[in-house]
Amino acid sequence: MNDDQIKLRFWGVHGTLPVPGKNTVKYGGNTSCISLEFPGGKLFIFDAGTGIKVLSDYLTANKVRPVSTKIFISHPHWDHINALPFFVPLYMQGNNFEIYGPSQGNISMKKLISRQMDGIYFPIKFKEFGANIHFRDLKEEEFKVDGINIKTMLLNHPGHCLGYCVNYKKRYIYYITDNELYPKSNQFYNEHYLNKLTDFVRNADALITDCTYTDKEYETKSGWGHSSVKQVVDLADRAKVKTLYLYHHDPDHTDAVIDAKLKTAQAMLKKKNSATICIAPKERELFKI
Ligand SMILES: [Zn+2]
Ligand SMILES: [Zn+2]
Repeated sequence: MNDDQIKLRFWGVHGTLPVPGKNTVKYGGNTSCISLEFPGGKLFIFDAGTGIKVLSDYLTANKVRPVSTKIFISHPHWDHINALPFFVPLYMQGNNFEIYGPSQGNISMKKLISRQMDGIYFPIKFKEFGANIHFRDLKEEEFKVDGINIKTMLLNHPGHCLGYCVNYKKRYIYYITDNELYPKSNQFYNEHYLNKLTDFVRNADALITDCTYTDKEYETKSGWGHSSVKQVVDLADRAKVKTLYLYHHDPDHTDAVIDAKLKTAQAMLKKKNSATICIAPKERELFKI
C-alpha cells in the first residue's frame, strides 16, 4: 500500500528573491521549486527557482538519474525560471525532458526559457543542454502526462500564470502560485474568480499556495499579485482542503515571521472549526500523499 504513495518535496519555499543567511536557516532561503515523485520513479518538477539547484544536488548525491522528467512552469518571472540552467540532468545526453508552461502573448515557453540563456545574460547557451527537451505551451486545459491527469487554471497575477492540479489515483495535489486573492473589501474583489478557484481546489489532498504576505503587509501591497494569510486560510477552509501548505514567502520574511504566519493560520482554522491542516514546509522536507 505504501508503495503507492506520492512523494511531495519542497526545494525552495521563498518567493521573488533567494535569501540565504542566518534568518532563513529553518525554512531555507531558496525560491520556488517542488517535486512530485510517483511510484515507479516518475518525477514532476514545478518551477525552477533556485530550489531546483538543491534538487539537482540531491539527485546527484543519491545517484538518481531522472531520465524522463516533466517540468511545469507556473509563469516566467525570474524566481520561477532563472535557476533552470543549474539543473545538471539537463546537460546529460540520453535524458528526456518536457517543459510545460503558459506562453506570454506570442512568446512561447521555449523562447521564454531559452532567451535567458542567450550568452549575454548567462554564459551557457540553451543549445548546450545535452538532453532532449520538448516544450508545450499551455492555457487553461486538461490533459494526461504519463497517464497522470493534469488540469490548469489561469491565476490572478501579472501576465499569464497557471495553477496546476495533479490527479493521480484519486489523490489531488494543487500547485497554485503566484496568485492574489482580494479580500471582500478590496475594489478588485472578484467573486466569480474566487468561486472558480474554490471549485478548482475543492477537496484537495494538498494545496500548495502563495502566502507571500502577512495580513498587515497586504494592506500596502494590494495589486502586487500575491496573497496574505487570511485569504489563503479562507480559501482552504471553504474548499475543504485537507492540507494547506504555505508557500512563496516574501524575501523579507525571516524564519520567525514564517513561524508567526503559520501560527496565525492555524489559529484562524481552529476558530473556524476547520478540518484543514496547515503546514509551513521547510526546504528539503518530504510529505507522503
Ligand atoms: Zn514568484
Ligand atoms: Zn510572479
